[in-house]
Amino acid sequence: MTYKAEYIWIDGTEPTAKLRSKTKILADGAELPIWGFDGSSTNQAEGHASDRVLKPVADFADPIRGGANRLVLCEVFNIDGTPHESNTRAALRETAERYAAQEALFGIEQEYTFFEGSRPLGFPENGFPAPQGGYYCGVGADEIFGRPVVEKHLDNCLAAGLGISGINAEVMPGQWEFQVGPLSPLEVADHLWVARWLLYRTAEDFGISATLDPKPAKGDWNGAGAHTNFSTKKMRESYDAIIEAAEALGRDDKPLEHIKNYGVGVEARLTGAHETAPWNEYSYGVSNRGASVRIPWQVEVDQKGYIEDRRPNANVDPYVVTRLIVDTCGSALEK
Ligand code: ADP
Ligand code: MN
Ligand code: MN
Ligand code: MN
Ligand code: MN
Repeated sequence: MTYKAEYIWIDGTEPTAKLRSKTKILADGAELPIWGFDGSSTNQAEGHASDRVLKPVADFADPIRGGANRLVLCEVFNIDGTPHESNTRAALRETAERYAAQEALFGIEQEYTFFEGSRPLGFPENGFPAPQGGYYCGVGADEIFGRPVVEKHLDNCLAAGLGISGINAEVMPGQWEFQVGPLSPLEVADHLWVARWLLYRTAEDFGISATLDPKPAKGDWNGAGAHTNFSTKKMRESYDAIIEAAEALGRDDKPLEHIKNYGVGVEARLTGAHETAPWNEYSYGVSNRGASVRIPWQVEVDQKGYIEDRRPNANVDPYVVTRLIVDTCGSALEK
């Protein structure tokens, strides 16, 4: 007997990478072998030397096919065994290992928008829907667009064994959020990439597409972000460590280094309006949804917990944002 392994990888599309996948039939009980693909079709190679290598790094139950079938997340390598330049997971492996003793945890809030044809789901054929106000966490056919897809996606993530921790409707029609974590840096990023794949794959069966476009509708509509919640063991025990992490993210050239790697188009989303802080002015504050970094109210009360970096775009690479935060806060907290 056999099973189907869906090999999933992140491609080299500029400026924002896409997910790709293909199916391998394996004998029951067989280990997941390395595999190859045509990198010239994914912006990961030239046609004259096109072979790239897929190395399985995490695998999950396949809720789409069910049974013994698997979803297999891979890293991309060159044939000489070096990580391909599009392989951002390789650098996170090293950084996470360096600061492993700090026991970092992340929870990422993934916002996204459904589209049907060229319009966000719930936008009328002509003109615009009623302005923002009633959609966030709303109920009813006049407020909510795409719930059956969202529920199916949630069930699929749970059946796959992903660390998904919640969902909510967002402030624009057709806009939603799911949260992954708290998990270790590599786990949260792996689970988020597979949850994204399951989002596209689930919506496909409804004839709907999902996008991580950070500004999917022009005008007075919220953008789509990926708030990144972070703690270390020290931060989960002391408020001094919370403040030190928030300070470290604002020190020297860190704000710009982070912003540059927080997703294409981040400057257009972080305008200072729509619950954002301006991209070029770092700030942090308790309860403040207009700050770059928010210390949740409960964290101040408890004098320990986590911080929320509100800057990352919905289209951020979770391998990159977790690496930068572990690096910046990890080296500051080490002292
Ligand atoms: P909000 O919408 O109010 O900003 P959410 O409930 O959507 O918050 O998301 C909060 C996130 O914080 C969740 O993903 C959760 O996993 C994460 N989180 C909670 N505690 C911690 C912690 N100690 N370290 C890191 N992340 C955490
Ligand atoms: Mn072929
Ligand atoms: Mn949220
Ligand atoms: Mn949100
Ligand atoms: Mn948030």
